[in-house]
Amino acid sequence: MANIGLYIELKDGSFKKSNRELLSLARKGGHAVHAVVFCADVQPFLEEMQGVQSVIQVTGADLAYQPERYARTLAKVIEEYKLEAFLGIYSAQGKDLFPRLAALLKAGLVNDCLAVDLEKRQAVKPVYSGKLLAEYQVEGERALFTVRPNVIPVEPAAGGTPQVKSMTLDAGEAKARIVEVIQSASRKIDLTEAEVIVSGGRAMKAKENFSILEDLAQVLNAGVGASRAAVDAGFATSDMQVGQTGKVVNPKLYIACGISGAIQHFVGMKTSKIIVAVNKDPEAPIFKKADYGIVGDLFTVVPLLKEELKKALG
Ligand SMILES: Cc1cc2nc3c(=O)[nH]c(=O)nc-3n(C[C@H](O)[C@H](O)[C@H](O)COP(=O)(O)OP(=O)(O)OC[C@H]3O[C@@H](n4cnc5c(N)ncnc54)[C@H](O)[C@@H]3O)c2cc1C
Repeated sequence: MANIGLYIELKDGSFKKSNRELLSLARKGGHAVHAVVFCADVQPFLEEMQGVQSVIQVTGADLAYQPERYARTLAKVIEEYKLEAFLGIYSAQGKDLFPRLAALLKAGLVNDCLAVDLEKRQAVKPVYSGKLLAEYQVEGERALFTVRPNVIPVEPAAGGTPQVKSMTLDAGEAKARIVEVIQSASRKIDLTEAEVIVSGGRAMKAKENFSILEDLAQVLNAGVGASRAAVDAGFATSDMQVGQTGKVVNPKLYIACGISGAIQHFVGMKTSKIIVAVNKDPEAPIFKKADYGIVGDLFTVVPLLKEELKKALG
């Protein structure tokens, strides 16, 4: 049995869905699990964290995410609780925080894991834009891992309410600090956590036309993504870009509308469980990668899809 820790990420004070995946992974194997949450009131999250041994609540005058302070506090928790492995989400925050933490602890870190074996301290992650899956072995006293959202099956939380312990945020000097977080004006579903994504490419032709994707997305409770061509043309915002230089997404269903299927787009969505492509060119490369293809004009197909899905889903 190992001492496993995990960083519970909150977004606007809410519990991120991907935390459940980390919790499911950590609880497996009967480890002693310690979850760290930076918040003023931990009570609303305790039910989600049933079955973990302790919840370490970090409090302080200003709990807004500041990378250096968070990293120093987590390093202290990891040392004090003698955590042998520490998990986080491969999110924008995870990507910012975990390398700092690894540097402070001089520990090995594997980012963007698709699978983690906590006993063996091994992890599998994609490399070379997803062309290969590499297996990593972490040596040393501690191992850090960030896990890609939507890859670990979620097990229901069970096993008793955890003990709450407390820790004070390290409020020391920081060389860099986040001054402002500008929220995207687009729909609030986080693409990296979304179960369904509807994406549009250059073929959308104008920003206003994304409204037909928004309508379909609303029926499916989906996030709306875009290709880089659509972003570069100003039809979509950069936070919507999926691909090598955009977001890596992993939904159950990815609907690509008017997207050719260039490799740089594909690497960002190739692990989607089901890919549906709508394209008027039957030779478009996306059809070689899609599970289902609809050859047709997206401006006809997407509204029809929306209507039929609306009926089917009641
Ligand atoms: C270093 C680098 C990094 C990159 N990173 C990314 C990235 O992160 N994400 C990304 O997406 N791209 C990225 N790209 C760009 C990538 O190479 C492609 O240029 C881009 O993905 C193409 O976008 P698209 O499929 O929307 O446009 P196009 O390739 O122009 O495809 C448009 C498609 O729409 C179809 N179409 C046209 N009209 C209709 C219609 N009415 N109905 C249905 N279908 C229609 C066409 O048949 C065509 O297949 C990167 C490129 C480089 C060099």
